[in-house]
Amino acid sequence: MAQQAGTTVLEGRPKARQCLHDMCRLQFKRGAEAMGLNPAIERILENTTNEITVHFPVQMDDGRIEVFTGYRVQHSNVLGPFKGGLRFHPSVDLDEVRALATWMTWKSAIVDIPFGGAKGGIQMDPSLYSRKELERITRRFTFALNGNIGPDYDIPAPDVNTNSQVMAWILDTYLTMMPPLERNRSLHVVTGKPLEAGGCVGRDKATGQGVAYCIERWMSDHDTSLRGATFTVQGFGNVGSWTARLLERLGARLVAAEDAGGAITADTIDVNLLLSHVLTCGTVAGYEAAAPITHEEFLSTEANIFIPAALEAQITEDTAPLLSVDLVAEGANGPTTLEGDRILQDNGIDVIPDILCNAGGVIVSYFEWLQNKQSQSWELDEVDRKLRCKLMGGYDRMEQARRTYGVDSRTAAYVVALKRLETVYEQRGIFP
Ligand code: NAD
Repeated sequence: MAQQAGTTVLEGRPKARQCLHDMCRLQFKRGAEAMGLNPAIERILENTTNEITVHFPVQMDDGRIEVFTGYRVQHSNVLGPFKGGLRFHPSVDLDEVRALATWMTWKSAIVDIPFGGAKGGIQMDPSLYSRKELERITRRFTFALNGNIGPDYDIPAPDVNTNSQVMAWILDTYLTMMPPLERNRSLHVVTGKPLEAGGCVGRDKATGQGVAYCIERWMSDHDTSLRGATFTVQGFGNVGSWTARLLERLGARLVAAEDAGGAITADTIDVNLLLSHVLTCGTVAGYEAAAPITHEEFLSTEANIFIPAALEAQITEDTAPLLSVDLVAEGANGPTTLEGDRILQDNGIDVIPDILCNAGGVIVSYFEWLQNKQSQSWELDEVDRKLRCKLMGGYDRMEQARRTYGVDSRTAAYVVALKRLETVYEQRGIFP
C-alpha cells in the first residue's frame, strides 16, 4: 500500500477516516444551515433508513469454510429506489457504508435523477481469492441480501474492486431466486452489467467521463483550456484511468499517478501505455517510462488539476498543505476531510465536490435502468449527450446556489440537493 503522510494506519485505515460518517454528517449540517433546512427534515436525513449486516459462509477452493461480513445501508428512498455501489475492501464497515450511502442520496438529488441513496460491500481483500472463490462469495452475498435488493427497490452497481463481471454474478443469482415469470422483468436489479447481459454502452467510462465534463466546464468558466494543462491522478482503477484517458484526449498532460502499489512521475506520462502496464502488473509502480516517487512527493507534484480517484479521506489537515494545484476534481467519494477543505480554501484551491463531480456513474446507471425497463438500447452518442446534459444541469444549479448563498462549491452542492429533498418531503408530508 502507498504510505499516507501524517496518518496512522490502524487495521489498514488512516486515523483521519475512522469516523467517516461523522465527516459526512458535518458536511450535511453545513449545507442544511446555509439553506435553513426544516429541522424536522434535517433530523430525518441525518439518519439512514435501513442498515443490513449479513454474515455468510463460503467454501474456499481448498475445502476450508470462511465466514464473511457484508453490509447494505439504505439511506433514503424519498426520490426513488435506493441506489449505490458495492465494494470489496478490507476497510468496509458500517461507518464507511453509512457515509457512502448518504452521499449517494445527495448525488442523485443534485443531478435530478429519480433515485435515493444506498451503498454496500464485503469486508475482505479480493486479491487473496481466486476468481471461482470471488464468484461464490458474490453469489452467497446476493443470496444473503435476498429481498433487501430489487429492481425497483434497491439497485447495486460497481464500486472499488467490483466490476461488470461481479454485477453479472449478482444478476444471475438474483434472477435464479425469482419465480420464472418475473426473471426477464428484473434485469435492472443491478447496473454496470456487461453490455451483452443488459449493460449500457458507456457505463464503464461514465464516472471518468463525468469528471472530465466537470473539469472542462471549470476550465471554460475560468477562461482557460485543457490543452496543455497538467494533471495528477490518485487511483488508476475505473474512475482514475478513464478520467486520465479522456483528459489526455482533450490535450491535457498526466505528470504523476499513484495507486495502492506506489507512485510515479514524468514530464509526460502516456496514459494508454501506463494502462497496459497496469493491466499486466496490477499497479502503476514499476512503469519504466516514469520515475518512482513517495506519497508525499506525489501529493506535492505541481500541476493544474489533482484528481483523487481512490479512497476516502486522502486530503486531510496533514496532506492538504502539500498540494500545489489550481483545482481538485473529486473522482472518489469523500476524498477531502473538513480540515482538508478549509486548507484548500485558505490556499485558493478550487474543489469540484464529489457529489457532483463523480455523479456520471449513477447518471448512466439510471440510463441503463431505464433501457432495461423499456427493453431498449441506446447508442453511445445519445448516452454521452444525455450524461453531459444531466451533469451540467447539476453544475449550473450548484453555481447558482454558490452565488445566491455566498458559500463554497461543496456547501452549494448540498444546498441544491437538500432543497430538492425538502420540497418533496413538504409535498408528501410525513406518515401517519
Ligand atoms: P477501482 O477498484 O477500479 O480502483 C481503485 C483504485 O484506487 C486502484 O487503482 C487502487 O490501487 C487505488 N487505491 C486503493 N488504495 C489506495 C491508496 N491507499 N492510495 C492510492 N491509491 C489507492 O475503484 P473505482 O471504481 O475506480 O472507485 C474509485 C473511487 O471512485 C471510489 O471512491 C469510488 O467510491 C468512487 N466512485 C466510483 C464510481 C464507479 O462508477 N466505479 C462512481 C462514483 C464514485
